Amino acid sequence: MSKDNLKRNILVTNALPYANGSLHLGHMLEHIQSDIWVRFQKLINNNCTYVCGEDAHGTSIMLKAEERGIKPEELIKSYKESHIEDLKAFNINYDNFYTTHSEENKYFSEMIFSRLQEKDLIEEKEIEQLFDTEKKLFLSDRYVKGTCPSCNAKDQYGDNCESCSSAYSAIDLINPVSVLSDSKPEIRKSIHLFFKLSKLRKSINEWLETSEVPKQAVNKLSEWTKGEIKDWDISRDGPYFGFEIPGYPNKFFYVWMDAPIGYLASHKNYLDTKGKSEEFDLYWGEKSAAELYHFIGKDIMYFHALFFPAMLLNSGFRQPSGVFIHGFLTINGEKMSKSRGTYILADDYLKVLDPEYLRYYFAAKLSTGVDDVDLNLDDFLLRVNSDVIGKFINIGSRTSGFIKKHYKNKLSNKLDNEQLIEEFIVSSEQIAKAYENREFSKAIRDIMILADKANKYIDKMEPWTLINDKKNKDLVHSICTTALNLFRILTIMLYPVTPSLSANIYKFLNIKQPNWDDLNNLLLDHEISEYQSLLIRIEKEQIDKLQEISKED
Ligand SMILES: [Zn+2]
Repeated sequence: MSKDNLKRNILVTNALPYANGSLHLGHMLEHIQSDIWVRFQKLINNNCTYVCGEDAHGTSIMLKAEERGIKPEELIKSYKESHIEDLKAFNINYDNFYTTHSEENKYFSEMIFSRLQEKDLIEEKEIEQLFDTEKKLFLSDRYVKGTCPSCNAKDQYGDNCESCSSAYSAIDLINPVSVLSDSKPEIRKSIHLFFKLSKLRKSINEWLETSEVPKQAVNKLSEWTKGEIKDWDISRDGPYFGFEIPGYPNKFFYVWMDAPIGYLASHKNYLDTKGKSEEFDLYWGEKSAAELYHFIGKDIMYFHALFFPAMLLNSGFRQPSGVFIHGFLTINGEKMSKSRGTYILADDYLKVLDPEYLRYYFAAKLSTGVDDVDLNLDDFLLRVNSDVIGKFINIGSRTSGFIKKHYKNKLSNKLDNEQLIEEFIVSSEQIAKAYENREFSKAIRDIMILADKANKYIDKMEPWTLINDKKNKDLVHSICTTALNLFRILTIMLYPVTPSLSANIYKFLNIKQPNWDDLNNLLLDHEISEYQSLLIRIEKEQIDKLQEISKED
């Protein structure tokens, strides 16, 4: 069998950012998580494709564009540009970043809808909804406030009460008021289209039991799937920014119907652009053997782990292999807050700090659990300075000077400590396994244990003392050569997490970008480039500045 046949075909998606706001560090947590995993897959030579795009439909985009006096198309275009810019700056390396407002997405949304219709899985039902007579639109739950029908708490949204947690229908609110116009909405009837999920309980549970979904999430979802599964309303009345439903004038696909279909659209667009259209079925066909994974946050697991797999199964496509779910980002232990200066936009972070710091810190915290991830800014400074600068970079910075000064930047042709190199290579297996299983915090822990070992070795050998005696010249040469070979191995291991730092180290080591298979190739009798500062320590002033500018926004 040729090596190519052993390669896995993997398609990875990240949740689509919504096109009506700037990216903040909560978004970056997920993009960084998925990017690390994809970079690892590419590093071990798998065929891994990584797609994303803008989630570009819905009422809030329509209203925001209206507020600014522009077309929704203009609004989503400008957010797409700003999102792409932020993602690039954080070294998030999408193969394609597209949009749900596209021909491809319209095509797949209509196709899936008509196939569900053919299977008698779409039902028309008349529903009652609150209608804003001034704005002339039906109000979704978040656009109406009133008094809770259960506990009489004032100022509650149309879906559930924040005071007593009871869930209700917006039409049951006492004294409802439209958030958009402050007027009293009236109840109107309208025909809506429902995806008959209630008929699909068996296959929904089957998929949940056989796919890679975090256990905590499955438990949460089963509370719902073990009970009576309600049919899902997939239509919205116009005016609405989205795709009109074929055969239903002035009715549109609900944004959550066409958003996950956007993954197919982005991938199709990617393949068409690359001249590889024929590969689409390899990934999305009913019998596809490729792997398909979605990285998402726990707030949208219903859509990805229940609705979307059910839609795919009943419209002639394959289902996802897994849905990887993370918790929310908290900053300094709390929800992001503007007044505390912890609602941090990606853009503001970039004004003050290097993205590699954050990529490292998130990696050090991420595992497969759905628990929240805390960015404690004091701990962030200490951890990055101690691990990345104090341990990892230190190995290169403290030994390269000898190579420059005494050996004209050329490494020795022999090692001083082959056993230590061997130990690093052996450890690479468990580190690869941790990356594969998305236990990034474990991978980082193991890599830092190795960095400690490298530093201890240098401490013990004391090249700075040895060099004072001429007879040690060869020994110091081989000690520093050993250290820089250890540094090279660690640099490759850290590449998925800190790709631009690693790329700069490859330049310093004067090597082409290696992959994981190259870990045990040694650098001997090899000329390196001059050492230049790779990454500097984070200063307390930078953290203060970051919080200051986050308050201003
Ligand atoms: Zn209540």
